[in-house]
Amino acid sequence: MSIRLQSQTDRLRAVLSELRVAGRTIGFVPTMGYLHYGHRSLIERSRDDGCFTVVSVFVNPAQFGPDEDLDTYPADHDRDFELSVASGADLVWYPERTDLYPPESQTMVKPGALADRLCGVSRPQFFPGICSVVLRFFNLIKPDRAYFGEKDFQQLAIIKRMAADFYLDVDVIGCPLQREADGLAMSSRNARLAPEDRDLALTLYRTITEARTAYAKGERDAEALRTKLKEGWPQGIELDYLDFREPVLLEEVATLAADTRIFLGAWLNGVRLIDNDALT
Ligand code: AMP
Repeated sequence: MSIRLQSQTDRLRAVLSELRVAGRTIGFVPTMGYLHYGHRSLIERSRDDGCFTVVSVFVNPAQFGPDEDLDTYPADHDRDFELSVASGADLVWYPERTDLYPPESQTMVKPGALADRLCGVSRPQFFPGICSVVLRFFNLIKPDRAYFGEKDFQQLAIIKRMAADFYLDVDVIGCPLQREADGLAMSSRNARLAPEDRDLALTLYRTITEARTAYAKGERDAEALRTKLKEGWPQGIELDYLDFREPVLLEEVATLAADTRIFLGAWLNGVRLIDNDALT
């Protein structure tokens, strides 16, 4: 029987502490809900690793800017519970805002240079907000393992850095990006795309494919390829960034290599889209 907890932080901690005493490994999958197969793949991985799997569903206000989509972020708690359980979750937790940010709470995490690039430029509050909520979650749940998707490659790198910098006793595990059949990176926000925008949303994936093809044909000049891809960027979808970076410190590269990743961020009629992939 899977457990569903609405708030009830004390109960959550009691359940998990009993399991820890019993020697269970705890796997944790934080989400903002409106689950799709990208989330399910993380839950399945935790289940397959033999963990008691905790999924959280929480739209974290701290990571949203004042003009962003906090209030319109899609939600369906019942469906999220069903999908989580079907994927192997043992416990799904829906905290209230005050469970994570009680009125007296003040302390926020300030990530370093990894957070000042890519999504961090246009969304300065984003990674401090994510680190601040993830650290709270880690300290409440005390997971042995935490699973994050490579869809949010920068987030994964920042959380790994935070775990190392703060000596957190948790294994941060990256899991592959899941795509729709046509290549669109799965995202809860895709539900907010107008049907007529769906094709434009594929611009990110098409650009990745074009970059990979160019690399396979011998292109090694990052700036030349970036310029060419930006010239082909269509009207109607606003490009935030298109960068070639190495996968560890996320520094820009001048010369493309097999492990170079292309990173893309864009807005399409108010819907935030991101994507990334290695060139090979
Ligand atoms: P979110 O609910 O968007 O905050 O995402 C929760 C977790 O699911 C994060 O670790 C994401 O990286 C991961 N995730 C979201 N979309 C995908 C995807 N398409 N493929 C793999 N993981 C994903």
